[in-house]
Amino acid sequence: MENKARIAVNSNPVRRRVLMTMLVVIAAWASFCSYANAEVKTVDSKDVCMVANRVPGSPTIEVLIDRRTYYVCCKNCEARIKKDPALRYTKDPLSRKKINKAEAFIVALDDGSIAYFESRESAEEYFAGMKKAL
Ligand SMILES: [Zn+2]
Repeated sequence: MENKARIAVNSNPVRRRVLMTMLVVIAAWASFCSYANAEVKTVDSKDVCMVANRVPGSPTIEVLIDRRTYYVCCKNCEARIKKDPALRYTKDPLSRKKINKAEAFIVALDDGSIAYFESRESAEEYFAGMKKAL
């Protein structure tokens, strides 16, 4: 009897959609919090891995591509950033403008990940807005 009830719940498509929506909302909220709690803490581009988008905490490798200098944490990331131009770019989370990671203003977040902005002003405005929203 109990088993039957559980199967009925699991196969209910509406119930499943509600659960999926909840999971998406929780994931979005969690990523929002990792931004919201962060101070604007600058990190030198030579101290980040621009492929993993993290502060690796170990010496990085300098990669020169088209007169721009990128930094990565390992040979694997070096091969990837050389091969895939998309890895060299990202979007400013505030202005949504496409920016080159080699020229970005980089902020270190509490969880070891990093965020790229087109300028310090953009980063400060972004985090100030996040704080106000809480
Ligand atoms: Zn790496």
